[in-house]
This record gives sequence, structure tokens and C-alpha cells, in this order.
Amino acid sequence: MAGAPPYYDWIAHHAGRRPHQLAIHDLQTARKFSYADLHHRTNRLAAALAALGIGKGDRIALLAPNCAEYFELQFACGRLGAIMLPLNWRLTVPELEYILGDSTPKLLIHDSSFSEAASKLAHLCKLPHLLEIDHERPDGAYERALAGGHAVPDPIALTHDDIGMVMYTSGTTGHPKGAIITHGMVFWNCVNLGIPALISPLTVQLVVLPLFHTGGLNCYANPVLHAGGTILVMRSFDPGLALDYISDPALGITHFFAVPAPYQFMMQHPNFQSADLTRLQIAGVGGAPCALAILEGWTERGVPLVQGWGMTETSPAGTMLDASDAIRKLGSAGKAMMHTAIRIVDEAGHDVARGVVGELLIKGPNITPGYWNKPEATANAFSDGWLHTGDAARMDDEGFIYIVDRWKDMYISGGENVYPAEVENVLFQLPQVADAAIIGIPNERWGEVGLAIIVRKADQPLEEADVIRHCLGKLAKFKVPQSIAFVEALPRNATGKVLKRELRVQFVGADKPAIT
Ligand code: ATP
Ligand code: MG
Repeated sequence: MAGAPPYYDWIAHHAGRRPHQLAIHDLQTARKFSYADLHHRTNRLAAALAALGIGKGDRIALLAPNCAEYFELQFACGRLGAIMLPLNWRLTVPELEYILGDSTPKLLIHDSSFSEAASKLAHLCKLPHLLEIDHERPDGAYERALAGGHAVPDPIALTHDDIGMVMYTSGTTGHPKGAIITHGMVFWNCVNLGIPALISPLTVQLVVLPLFHTGGLNCYANPVLHAGGTILVMRSFDPGLALDYISDPALGITHFFAVPAPYQFMMQHPNFQSADLTRLQIAGVGGAPCALAILEGWTERGVPLVQGWGMTETSPAGTMLDASDAIRKLGSAGKAMMHTAIRIVDEAGHDVARGVVGELLIKGPNITPGYWNKPEATANAFSDGWLHTGDAARMDDEGFIYIVDRWKDMYISGGENVYPAEVENVLFQLPQVADAAIIGIPNERWGEVGLAIIVRKADQPLEEADVIRHCLGKLAKFKVPQSIAFVEALPRNATGKVLKRELRVQFVGADKPAIT
């Protein structure tokens, strides 16, 4: 592959083919960028970065809410062979200091709303350069850098294996890990997702997940731009506003992707029943176990959610359910993407029979070569080129995958494995339950038993005995939670996943050790 042309720059391609096509509509700032605009700005940014001495292999961090600059940086980095490092802005300064210490960028580009954190980080991590984006000021530092008049560098030849990004994992189970994302991985994800998600130049996607996370950047924003379609970017998710946008015929939104939480919040919004969802062609969900009540609620509104499974390390699409199977196989995460292979194995690494739960392994050109600066974690994550996902899954007779839960969240009660996601599904059937999570807690007699942590809907009485009675008719006794804790809210990370490690620390006193 050495010396391959810069075919990772799909913005350049579409700027040549359909320059006036709308690429990005930044809903927060009402800025609109055609492919020609985006290409021009990418060139200008690449020129500004080269003038700072940034070249192949250098890292550039970005600390910003969702905005068009994510893509300007992604493609400008591609021009130079530099590495984009999108940062989770919900992290604290010490957490970001860890990431910047690990990845040592030459430049931090930051939004003006994060100036204070950026200055602290520049000092703590001795960052050579800072560049501020200020959407309020057309003459802000970022815009001045773009207008700087430096010569646009010739694109360097890249291979599939060159690193395009280091993307830190969500940090659901422990410290975020820097997954190495090559240009080839992003490209193959565009191919793998684009075909079954019906992504085309006519696609208009509402992007609500954070773009620093693979779910926001690659489901489906990059595949949509790869196809020459349009993305509408929300700075942060708001259920009522998202329903308004989806209902708006002038925006013509055809695609939406989110983890389960936004779907849950939209379903609970008073406008859910009256929203016009008829233009949505694909509403994808993934990234965390999706309660059946959410899948059913959206199906009843005429939108079968298309479930997929993936990880930052798989950039991210690993499996996906076709829209035509979304109702027949409700709850399944579908089958392996076109150019990937999956296996389900037992602890000895042998393939399990259909129907048996084991660990999901995955292989393919969209899989990370490893973790940044972590040779040991990389070595532990792979066997014979197969990535250990840490997820428990089973395959049905027709080969459809069901993600059962994370191995780490599974607990053993009286010798029986309990997968919390199954019990959570039953809790979500109770109309009084707004949110719920199960963790295993130590028990002298059974080893571990389930603790249900529940957020009640406002003004809806629900007691421990009601919950247990509801579960007894629906679950084997060993799966029924032994006790209930009612709380105001569950701890969630930036992508909306419940942080079970925090719940374990709160209710058990410590988290479980990592498994991969
Ligand atoms: P960390 O690796 O830092 O603990 P994380 O695993 O949450 O965080 P991501 O890469 O964002 O980081 O998420 C990948 C994980 O999300 C998968 O390993 C799986 O546990 C979960 N997941 C993804 N899709 C699904 C799905 N459809 N159903 C259930 N779980 C899913
Ligand atoms: Mg993970």
C-alpha cells in the first residue's frame, strides 16, 4: 500500500465533484459549509499547521463541543500525516492532563468556552502551542490562522496503516485507553456502515453524540461525508429540540444515530407522540445495551431502531442488524459487518455452540492495531489477530448476535451467571421506572446477589416489594434482585453509558478489576 494516493480525503473528492453540496450545517452557530467551503478551510488549516512546524506523526489535540472544526482538523491532519486527538470535554483537568501526558501533542486547539482549562493544560503539560476557536468572533485566533496566507502543503502519501487519530475509549470500565485509529480503519468503517445504513449523497443526518467519541464521529458522520451527504451537527443533545429538528420538513433529516439514553429521553418527552418521524430512514442505536422497552416504544411510533454493536477499537461498527430484520430480531445486534469476522469463544478460546454465551472476538481492517503507549494492554487484547472485546454474546440458530452484557458486569449468584442487562430489561417494563441499573453485591450465602438501583419517575410511587413482585413472575429466582436502592440519577459518562464502576464503588466499596 506504500505511496497510495490521499484517497482518505473524501472532502477533496466531493469538492471537485459537487462543490455546492451542503456538507455540514452547524445548528448551534447556524454556519453552513459546502464541500467547497470545507475543502478550502481544510487546506487553509493544513497550511497554518505546517507553518507551525507540524508534520507526519505529530499529535494535535482538540477540545471543543460539536462543531465543523472537528472535520477541518481531521482532514488537515490527513494532509500532513499528523494525528488528531479529540478530547472528551467532560473530563476534568487532571484527567485531561493524563491523556495529554500520554499523547504529548504539539498543539491544542480549543473552543473559547474551554480557555481556562486549555491554559492550565498548556502550563501543566508544557504544550508548545494553543489555538483558540471563538465562534462569536470572525477575527478570532483560529480564523486568523486560516487567513494567514501560508502556502498549502502538498498532501503526503498515506497508507492504510498510517495513524489518523488516537481516540480515547469511553472510560466506562476504567481509565480511558488511547485506541490507535488508522486511516484504513476509518475508511473501512465508511464502507462497512455505508452500505447497510443506506448512506448516500441524499443522506441528511442529525448528529447528536459527541464528536470526540467514535459513535459521534463515525456513526454516521464520517460515512455520510464519505458518501457526499449532509450532516447537521447539534452542539449538545436536547430531546425536545432533536424531535423538532427531525420533524422539520425543511431540514429533511433521513438518518439519526445515538446510544440508548437519547432515545429513552426522546421517548419520555411530551412531544414524542406528536413528532413527525416519517422522513427517518435509518435510526441506529448502539454503544450500550438497549432496553427492549426503548426498541418497542420506537417501533410503535413506526421507527424500528436498527441496533449495532461496536467499540472505539473497532472504529466502531462491528455488527449491525439490517432494517428489514429490526422487528423480527428485536434485541439482536445483527450480524458481522461486511468486511469483518466475528467469533464467540469460551474461556479456553474454543468456539462455543450456537445459543451458548461466550466472549465476542472480532477481526478485520476496521480493528485497531493497539493502544497508544500501552504495549502490554495491546498484547493482552489480541489472540492470533483476534481482538478480545470483553463483551459477552451469543448467536442464535440463524447466526444473529445478541450482546448479553460486558463480562465485567456479569455476576455469579449461587453458581449461576447473571447478566444485568437482562434484569434491567424487566425493570424497564415497570411504567414507574425512569432509569435502572443492576450490579452484583457480595452475599454470604449466594456469593453475589443483584442490587437494583432505580430512578423513579416523578410522582410515581414504587416500593421495593412492587419491584421484586414484578420480577418474580418474569425471571428465574437467582436473577431477581434481592434489594433495591432508589436514587435521584444514575452516573453516566459523556456518551450516556451508565458507570457501573461508580455504582460498585458507591454500593460495594470498590470496583472489580479490569479483565482486558
Ligand atoms: P472503556 O473501554 O474505556 O471501559 P467503553 O468500552 O464504554 O469504555 P467504547 O469503546 O465507547 O468504550 O464502548 C464499547 C463498548 O460498548 C462495547 O465493548 C460494549 O460493552 C458496549 N456496546 C456497544 N454496542 C453495544 C450494544 N449494541 N449492546 C450492548 N453493549 C454495547
Ligand atoms: Mg471498552
